[in-house]
Amino acid sequence: MTHARPVTRRAALAAGTAAFSAAATHPAPAAHAEPAPAADPHLPWIDAHSHIWPPDVDKFPLAPGQTQRDLNPPSFTDDQLMAVARPEGVGRVVLIQHSVYHRWDNAYLLDAVRRHPRTFRVQGMVDDHRPNPGAAMRELLPRGVTGFRITPFVCPRDAQAGWLDTPGMAEMWRTGAATRQAMCLLINPADLAAADAMCGRYPDTPVVIDHFARIGADGEIRDADVRALCRLARHKLAHVKVSAFYALGRKRPPHEELVPMIRRLIEAFGPRRLMWASDAPYQTHAENSYRASIALVRDRMDFLSRPDREWLLAKTAEAVFFPA
Ligand SMILES: [Zn+2]
Repeated sequence: MTHARPVTRRAALAAGTAAFSAAATHPAPAAHAEPAPAADPHLPWIDAHSHIWPPDVDKFPLAPGQTQRDLNPPSFTDDQLMAVARPEGVGRVVLIQHSVYHRWDNAYLLDAVRRHPRTFRVQGMVDDHRPNPGAAMRELLPRGVTGFRITPFVCPRDAQAGWLDTPGMAEMWRTGAATRQAMCLLINPADLAAADAMCGRYPDTPVVIDHFARIGADGEIRDADVRALCRLARHKLAHVKVSAFYALGRKRPPHEELVPMIRRLIEAFGPRRLMWASDAPYQTHAENSYRASIALVRDRMDFLSRPDREWLLAKTAEAVFFPA
C-alpha cells in the first residue's frame, strides 16, 4: 500500500542495520558510564519528540492524498532540526513518524538514523490492521525504532472508540513487553480511561503518553483531566511527555500556565517518568520557539533540583528510547 519502492527499502534495511549495529557494538569509551550512545557533554539534552520531513517527495513519497503543497513548512530535515536544537544543548532527538504526511512509511526517519545512528531514535508507526504487526515491530528494532506512535486519529471516525481493542493492537502491546519498544499514545483526555485499562492489561509494556494527553488543547486545563492522567502513575512503566507547549493552555511563551500541571505530574510520576519534548517544527512557528519550550524546564520552575532537570531533559528519554 503506502510501502512503495521495495528495492529502495530493502537496500535501506541492509545499510541501516549495518550502521546501527556498528554504533551499538562499538560505543565510544565515554559511553560506559551510561546507556549507549553517550551524550555529548556539550549537548547533554534529549528532545523526546520532534518531526522531520524532506522536501524531496520523489525519494520519500508522501501518503496517498498528500502533496508537496501540504508540507508546512515545506522542508524540515534532520539538519534543519539540529540547527535549532543544538544551540539549546540538545544533542539527541527521538524522531516521531508523521501520521499525516507519511502515515505507515517510516523510510525517512529510518534514513536519518542510518545517517546519524548516535543522534536519533525513532517512534515509528505500524498498521495494527495488517497481519503480523509484532513482526514488523521486531524488524524495525535494530534500525533504531524503540517506540511506536499509536493513535485513534488514524482510524475512520466510527472505529475510533474501539481503536485499542483490535487483535493487532494486542499483538503490538505484547511485543512491546518483550522488546521494550514503547507504546506512545497520541490521545485526548477522553481516551485516558482506555489507556489506563491497557496499562493494567499489559503491565510489562513501556508506555508514553504524548503531550500530556493534550490536556489544555482548548485553552482550559481541567482538574478532572489532570487527575485522570496522574492516575496512570500507578502503572510502573507509564511515562508522560512534557511537550507541545505551543498547542496547550495560552499557547504562547513563556508557557507558565502549564507549570501547575507539570508540578502535579512530578508529584504523581516523579521526574524519572517524565520527559521534555519540543514537538518541533510546530513549536517553532510564529511567536513560539524551540528555546521557549526547553527554557521552561531547563531555566524556569525553581522547585526543580538539578537531578530533576537531568531526568526531565535527558535521562528518562534515554532510558526509554536510547537503551544500552
Ligand atoms: Zn508531534
